[in-house]
Amino acid sequence: MKVLAVLYNGFQAAKAEPRLLGTVENELGLRAFLESQGHEFVVTSSKEGSDSDFAKHIVDSDILITTPFHPGYLTRDLVDKAKNLKLCVTAGVGSDHIDLNAAVERKIQVLEVTGSNVTSVAEHVVMSILLLVRNFVPAHEMIERGDWQVSDIARNAFDLEGKIVGTLGAGRIGSRVLQRLKPFDTKELLYYDYAPLPKDVESAIGARRVEDLEDFVSSCDVVTVNTPLHEGTKNLINRDLLSHFKRGAWLVNTARGAICNAEDVTAALKSGQLNGYAGDVWNVQPAPREHPWRTAKNELGGGNGMTPHYSGTTLDAQARYAAGTENILQNFFDGRPQNPADVIVGAGKYESKAYGQR
Ligand code: NAD
Repeated sequence: MKVLAVLYNGFQAAKAEPRLLGTVENELGLRAFLESQGHEFVVTSSKEGSDSDFAKHIVDSDILITTPFHPGYLTRDLVDKAKNLKLCVTAGVGSDHIDLNAAVERKIQVLEVTGSNVTSVAEHVVMSILLLVRNFVPAHEMIERGDWQVSDIARNAFDLEGKIVGTLGAGRIGSRVLQRLKPFDTKELLYYDYAPLPKDVESAIGARRVEDLEDFVSSCDVVTVNTPLHEGTKNLINRDLLSHFKRGAWLVNTARGAICNAEDVTAALKSGQLNGYAGDVWNVQPAPREHPWRTAKNELGGGNGMTPHYSGTTLDAQARYAAGTENILQNFFDGRPQNPADVIVGAGKYESKAYGQR
């Protein structure tokens, strides 16, 4: 079979650090595994436009491997051209870069390595909440500049203790974020999700479900976004919903950039409706140089905790999603059943409820 992988370039770092498995150079550690079984393996980072390697090779590939960190966008148009395609594997979590409806219609299976990086992301969320609430980034920048003016930082620094934190989406990542926040003695931990948490988990965390989205956001000092991107969450955090946030709330989005409206979030930060915005996901990746989130600031010149998309691609996470990808491929070659939790689209239907209530 022909297997095509779209990965990011690691350049010098990937040569020096072989554990950077999700790179073009290190090929998820799959080349020997695939070639020893007689498969052809093409790896590229070239993914945009009709002249890209992705567009060229997808035409006769049987299997596509992608990562959310450098998403190969498998549009309906490319699905139509991919006559041999049977399986898409996301090395990581989050398969919104695949046109899932088109995959359902064409009976192309879509699997991801469920759970492989959820702890990595939950840790990043906790870090991002703390750095916004405590006004860390401007404080560090001040030190690098050679300045020292404590009042300029302390005027917008708070404790997390006593605040109300809520997660939009309380699946694997959202529930882990709440678990990790429990020792911070917040005033309340809230969640909004159309699937309630199991009762024992809810009471162990001490979390409360809020069923109305506007009630939810208007109750929180901090909102963290942890839902997949699908028709029901795209552009969900827009000017209208932001107007229901508490004035001066902090927003953290490590789920998908397109869940938040880039211009509306930037305007909310500028106006003081948001005190801070942090996360690592962008509506287009790599983010263009002029993307407003690179430089958006609150009125005091802080409140920006954006990074490139890396929360779920720590070296620990890469080891897990590389091994998980190999396992999915071996199951497929052997005709063995897959781990049900990994299956987003099975043969001709959605198997996961996470991509919208269908
Ligand atoms: P999950 O499937 O375990 O949980 C998702 C939760 O969102 C589910 O409980 C689902 O019911 C809920 N949900 C879906 N649509 C909703 C809606 N409209 N309103 C409220 N709740 C809704 O998934 P997970 O493992 O927690 O991952 C969540 C997402 O995080 C992924 O789909 C991916 O987009 C993102 N992610 C990002 C990174 C990163 O590196 N930044 C890494 C992993 C995952």
